[in-house]
Amino acid sequence: MKNIVAIYPGSFDPVTNGHLDLIHRGSKLFDKLIVAIAVNLDKGETLFTMKERKEMLVAMTEELDNVSIDTFEGLLVSYCIRQGANAVLRGIRAISDYEFELQMALMNRKMEPRVETVFMMPAEQYSYLSSRIVREIAKLGGPLTGLVPKMVEDRVRERIARRHISATGKHLL
Ligand code: ADP
Repeated sequence: MKNIVAIYPGSFDPVTNGHLDLIHRGSKLFDKLIVAIAVNLDKGETLFTMKERKEMLVAMTEELDNVSIDTFEGLLVSYCIRQGANAVLRGIRAISDYEFELQMALMNRKMEPRVETVFMMPAEQYSYLSSRIVREIAKLGGPLTGLVPKMVEDRVRERIARRHISATGKHLL
């Protein structure tokens, strides 16, 4: 039997129920799944620090024995080889994800043919969900129920409230 170790890379700012849906599916399919938070210099400022994103992912995947959480910097395929991984897990939500994901998967394959990209689809109710939309709804005071776990919802609300307070200078009063 082959030992399939997969890497699930992303920014997870914050982890959503869509990510968790994919992690559960991946943990059933692969022998080992490493959720790898990317240090992404292009995405600009994040809502949560690397440490906070990791803490939330660790708490939300505690019951999954073959899932671990890590962080990485630099080329994904180089990280895969360092970890002894032979697969990359990515989620496909809408058609709009496809073009970018195809380009990345083919480029990664060209750089490192030993690593295969595997695409999985989340349950339909998560197919429109992204971390960005969670951050935006939270900033506008909308409901996050069903989009992220309760612990994440509390942390997002607390972070956004705190940012709002410092932006309005009320913390000085
Ligand atoms: P986001 O797109 O939410 O900011 P990331 O950059 O952390 O998330 O994405 C990491 C991976 O998770 C990508 O492959 C992305 O397609 C996938 N993903 C994100 N949200 C979902 C979802 N709701 N359902 C399935 N896959 C998802």
